[in-house]
Amino acid sequence: MSGKRYGIVVCPSCGFARAVDLRNKTTGCSHCDKRLKLSKMRIYYHTDSMSELSWAVGRMNAALSNSKIPSKEKKESDIYSRIVKEIKSDGTRHDRLLIVASILTHEFGSFGEKELKMLSERVDLGEIDELMDEFRKLKEIYEPREGKFVMVDF
Ligand SMILES: [Zn+2]
Repeated sequence: MSGKRYGIVVCPSCGFARAVDLRNKTTGCSHCDKRLKLSKMRIYYHTDSMSELSWAVGRMNAALSNSKIPSKEKKESDIYSRIVKEIKSDGTRHDRLLIVASILTHEFGSFGEKELKMLSERVDLGEIDELMDEFRKLKEIYEPREGKFVMVDF
């Protein structure tokens, strides 16, 4: 537990991020009226500041709505080559995962198993399942839908 008062949850039914008061046990989604049990949900972005919180919710909803409109302008192979090039420089695995997440989110709106498999054909990142779990654990990564990741760079 972080001890902070506010956080953000992503509604599993409509995919919108909303602010929550962590002292409450449940909250209602303002978009679809679903009751959300906070103990069952992943809480993102802990803070005590209301203004910081609403800014963060805005950032997250912007990122999440981008993820619904993927850009198809560039050739996919160019995107993967660029990622391979960028993660070749020195850095921790964490740095490299963030580079992968950042470029994939930016180019495709979101990413998942399909994109990671494409990338794995070009560079060794380990087992796909383990890789997915690693992404799940990163605080910069959101999973608005099962197996679909979005990076939010606060
Ligand atoms: Zn909802």
